[in-house]
Amino acid sequence: MLVAKLNDQFINAADACQGKNYCCPECGAYLILKHGQRKIAHFAHQGNSGCALREGESYEHLLGKQQIFEWARKKGWQAELEVYIPQLEQRADVFLRIGGQRVVIEFQCSPLSLTALQKRTLGYQSIGIKCYWFLGSPYKQKLNQRQTQKFIQLVNQQYTIMFWDTKAKILRLVKLAIKEKPLSLKEVTHDYRILRRLSLLQGINSCIKEFTRGLPVICHQKTLGIQVTNHPEIYWRCLVVKKLSNIPLFASFSLDSWYRLLKKVDLTEWLKFPCLSSSKIVNDYLEVFTKQLLKSGNIIIDGQTVILISHPSYHRSIMKQYQEIQRLIQ
Ligand SMILES: [Zn+2]
Repeated sequence: MLVAKLNDQFINAADACQGKNYCCPECGAYLILKHGQRKIAHFAHQGNSGCALREGESYEHLLGKQQIFEWARKKGWQAELEVYIPQLEQRADVFLRIGGQRVVIEFQCSPLSLTALQKRTLGYQSIGIKCYWFLGSPYKQKLNQRQTQKFIQLVNQQYTIMFWDTKAKILRLVKLAIKEKPLSLKEVTHDYRILRRLSLLQGINSCIKEFTRGLPVICHQKTLGIQVTNHPEIYWRCLVVKKLSNIPLFASFSLDSWYRLLKKVDLTEWLKFPCLSSSKIVNDYLEVFTKQLLKSGNIIIDGQTVILISHPSYHRSIMKQYQEIQRLIQ
């Protein structure tokens, strides 16, 4: 740990000197100050102790916290290390006051479950503290889908994953966006492969049996960036197309009810993003999808009203569909 107690004052290890009785803020035991040539100053318990602050803190975590603390101070923010938040009974890695806003930075170097992450983030939120997650080196710069889902955050209105690099002592921002992906024949072939595989699974309903015909092109027009449902995108699109085909032509919707309609698709579960306000990412995704329907002439949008003017149409055969797609991508 980086902060100890001395006569009821909190002392940062960087400012501490040998020969004083530093105590653990958690259990009150005397601590050893470790201050080597190559390692940053920190405190450690003596021998075996059952204290919660004893286990599992890597050197990278210690180093990163100290660096983030200094980085924040250089920016002119009021910063404190390892601050105990009594309402949540937990310790924040770095605690900041920026203007009137209380902000916590958690420097994450070890695995963390989605549930634990959600609990922590919501806890901070419930008492008006903003929480940002900086990832350490065990997280590679290219995260997989599951890790992205966990740590994607809004920074200046952009989807961002934040890495703290302890070697360079800098914050690296990786930005992601939900946007339209160009249509390609390779992707279309891949979609059919996915559908064929899904059709073998039990519980996946009959809508994808239609794939002996050519699917409407809108099914293959994808988004790029972040996966938002529990199924591959092609499957979700097939389900939506099926739902739309049961709605009478010229039915009109307010934008709100249109998005509600798209959100409530059978068998679809929207993924949870613990560091984002719940529906923003789903809305962004549905907005791109809606624009694609508009472009393909299935809907028109008149101010705040969406009108369904044609059902996405199947092609008589997969061959016909291929010809249509080829025409579109040329
Ligand atoms: Zn202790």
